[in-house]
Amino acid sequence: MKFATKAIHSGQHPEEITGAVSTPIFQTSTYSNEKLGESKGFDYGRTTNPTRFALERNLADLENGKFGYCFSSGMAAIHALITIFKPGDHVICSDNVYGGVFRLFDQIIKDYNIEFSFINTSDLKLVKKTIRKNTKLIHIETPTNPMLGITDIEAVSIIAIKNNILVSVDNTFMSPYFQTPLDLGADIVVHSSTKYLNGHCDVIGGCVITSNEDISDKIKFIQKSIGAVPAPLDCWLILRSIKTLAYRMKAHNENAIAICRVLEKDRRIKKLFYPGLKSHPQYKIIKKQMRGFGGMISIDVGSYKSAEQFCNALRIFQIAESLGGVESLVCHPATMTHASVPKEFRDKLGITDGLVRLSIGIEDKEDLITDIKEALKKL
Ligand SMILES: *Cc1c(COP(=O)(O)O)cnc(C)c1O
Repeated sequence: MKFATKAIHSGQHPEEITGAVSTPIFQTSTYSNEKLGESKGFDYGRTTNPTRFALERNLADLENGKFGYCFSSGMAAIHALITIFKPGDHVICSDNVYGGVFRLFDQIIKDYNIEFSFINTSDLKLVKKTIRKNTKLIHIETPTNPMLGITDIEAVSIIAIKNNILVSVDNTFMSPYFQTPLDLGADIVVHSSTKYLNGHCDVIGGCVITSNEDISDKIKFIQKSIGAVPAPLDCWLILRSIKTLAYRMKAHNENAIAICRVLEKDRRIKKLFYPGLKSHPQYKIIKKQMRGFGGMISIDVGSYKSAEQFCNALRIFQIAESLGGVESLVCHPATMTHASVPKEFRDKLGITDGLVRLSIGIEDKEDLITDIKEALKKL
């Protein structure tokens, strides 16, 4: 089956008693046994929930994986992933990861004696050089947030296999519609479902997907033991949202390309970052591993003052953290999403005070272009 069909049907079938087409929200914490020792396979809501199972099956299918596990947030999903490692293990991580992931690894997990090397994973020579005897995982985010740098997933996976190292990819920015890391050799995919998967800025959620049975068992055990599981209603909302994922992603992509055409020509934009630009330094890898470019654009307008004027002048774009929703958002990474990243590290990554990140929604593109053009006049 093709993507748009799987998005609507995977994991879902008419409900047995009534034939309800929409998977019900099983809002229950526990399940009654008909006789002592005779459950219907469902025992307790933290471990098992039919609405969650439907979503987990659906996500696994979309990522071309065998197993899927849902969590109460993207951070909870990434926490579950990192919890499969042990004291003394070493992890290589993209240096430009989501700020919250850097904070989790650098300020919490590090204290449990797991070592991290935050490096530019686009640089394959550097990846090879950073590998140690105790390296167990390479965690990459591609495209990165907010600089939209690209790591060659297939190339990293080949290096990893040779060294008996696992590869995990944060696929939040692309969604499985545009990129399926497991097909490129990665072992694990993680998502903040809060973003494109749910896509309507109304749920916090996360997931881990893999085809590796051993990893699957570990994640499942962590999911029920730590208990950061999503509520049935939230699972249902994400399941419902995914039905339109293919069409939303097409629209995000189309709008972002149209907006880039305008931004490219404006001299007030000092730098423009978007995977769909032929001038992107990794355009060849982009064409190889992505089926589209997504809806995230970053621009550098030169100074904090200009960034402030631009953000405040926008009317349709709302100033907010997060991304991937149908509504367009604008964010100032240095003071918002990446405020917890030390300044010297931010500078190194290119997250200057003039950097503005746009999450292009699926409103009418003419309206979005007018909004941006008007705001730029204020600079
Ligand atoms: C938002 C985000 C996360 C964290 O997910 P939450 O749902 O906010 O916990 C992780 N990775 C990326 C790339 C993100 O954008």
